[in-house]
Amino acid sequence: MIKPDAVENGHIGAILEKITAAGFRIVALKKTQLTQRDAEAFYSVHSERPFFGELVAFMTRGPIVAAILEKENAVNDFRTLIGATNPAEAAEGTIRKLYATSMGENAVHGSDSDENAAIESAFHFSEREIF
Ligand code: GDP
Repeated sequence: MIKPDAVENGHIGAILEKITAAGFRIVALKKTQLTQRDAEAFYSVHSERPFFGELVAFMTRGPIVAAILEKENAVNDFRTLIGATNPAEAAEGTIRKLYATSMGENAVHGSDSDENAAIESAFHFSEREIF
């Protein structure tokens, strides 16, 4: 996902360009907005964390761009491309270093395993939106 901060700040095009330049194929893509229920479900693993309310409020405050990406070693390579959760700790040239503003408002989400990537793909897209 390209998160609401990066959409608000006009970075959709630049972020997609970095993703395709890094060798990912866009298999599915859409602009949409998460409801409170969507965000609570998507981030349910974090429901006991102190920042959960803040995270849900942020993720629902404006549109996001959801994508399914394909590449060899996609999960690891995408996490390398986006950089550390906290942009202050993200490596030079990473998407979060370039476009994130804070630990919470960090521009992009990437799946942390192939299993979660499949779950998150099904969360956002129906079969006929995947090519
Ligand atoms: P990620 O896999 O790098 O996205 O990081 P995590 O899975 O640990 O956290 C999920 C998301 O929760 C992060 O991308 C942030 O948007 C948010 N988050 C994590 N830690 C904090 C925090 O301390 N404060 C706030 N407000 N949000 C946080």
